[in-house]
Amino acid sequence: MLIYEYKLDGTKAQYAAIEDAIRITQFIRNKGIRQWMDGRGVGRNDLQASCSFLAQEFPFASKLNSMARQAAADRAWSAISRFYDNCKQKKPGKKGFPRFQHDNRSVEYKTSGWKLKADGRHITFTDGCGIGCLRLVGTRAIETFPVKQIKRVRLIRRADGYFCQFAVQTDRVVEHEMTGAITGIDVGLKAYYTDANGTTVENPRHYHKAEKRLKRLQRRLSKTTKGSKNRLKARKTLAKAHLKVQRQREDFARKEANALVTSHDLIAFEDLKIANLVRNHHLAKSINDASWGRFLAWVQYYGSLHTIPVIKVAPHFTSQNCSGCGTLVKKSLSVRTHVCPKCELVMDRDENAARNILAKALAEREQREQDRTVGHTGTDAPLSA
Ligand SMILES: [Zn+2]
Repeated sequence: MLIYEYKLDGTKAQYAAIEDAIRITQFIRNKGIRQWMDGRGVGRNDLQASCSFLAQEFPFASKLNSMARQAAADRAWSAISRFYDNCKQKKPGKKGFPRFQHDNRSVEYKTSGWKLKADGRHITFTDGCGIGCLRLVGTRAIETFPVKQIKRVRLIRRADGYFCQFAVQTDRVVEHEMTGAITGIDVGLKAYYTDANGTTVENPRHYHKAEKRLKRLQRRLSKTTKGSKNRLKARKTLAKAHLKVQRQREDFARKEANALVTSHDLIAFEDLKIANLVRNHHLAKSINDASWGRFLAWVQYYGSLHTIPVIKVAPHFTSQNCSGCGTLVKKSLSVRTHVCPKCELVMDRDENAARNILAKALAEREQREQDRTVGHTGTDAPLSA
């Protein structure tokens, strides 16, 4: 799926109609959660079936396109099934029991209830919510895709306006020009990432630059009186500033990932449990700042476009082992240089880790190749140290 996003240009009345559609989505989703709580063994099909009953019972809900209503019921189901999954996998901590939503910001249309003008610059919503025709603001060219490939149209409220997101099904593949280079990468707090050749990409630190401004805006907000016009204004300014940082991060992550994939034929990285790391509050801000998760997701995305292998390896001992001889050299987070007492290798900590990550990925790949040729029975290949 490719995601194309445009800002929407419409009238106040049209935005109010979008808000209606967003509210109906939340209403149907919450009704689904309620139905699941009250009944026994309520499944996805039950929630889908309830959509039409709801529309009969609550005329305002019938204004929303029927497939959009089903998409709303699906949101309830995905919250429920996520909870079931967490229970089944015995995920530690909170299992995410489905809750009622009060702050929904979006509505999702599928393949009906909207029509795109041939110029690709206007979209008309044709259901009973009365949104009408909106202008699409942006440089993307959605009209280059056959309408059949647009599987989802989402309207989103953000701090700086309303947006329209198209999900386009495509089997886009980029012709990858072989470079002969392979690498492992170590994402870190010091550098954005370090590769197996010791090349580093510096952290953009958008947040640090923006931090002062965000703090000032936060202070300004807390000085305003509750319910006042000034408070509303201050909150909006703060939300916009946060949004700007978020977009800068995303942009940086995407560009760096694209550059990395374009210049390599194989990339290995560590499967970090980022959620666990972020729970550590000292690290939290820097990690969020670096936005590793988004970066690695983009690396995988571009990797699949370029059809090059992007390999995740388990994060054990990648920073502790010596990439030269495999000796375990224990070091705390503050030790920045790897010094091996056995083979006397001296190297930046992150570069050493990146080399281990690459070696691990290659070993696992080779093992899989062997498994394929030898079959799963009776292989006596030595386990890598
Ligand atoms: Zn060594």
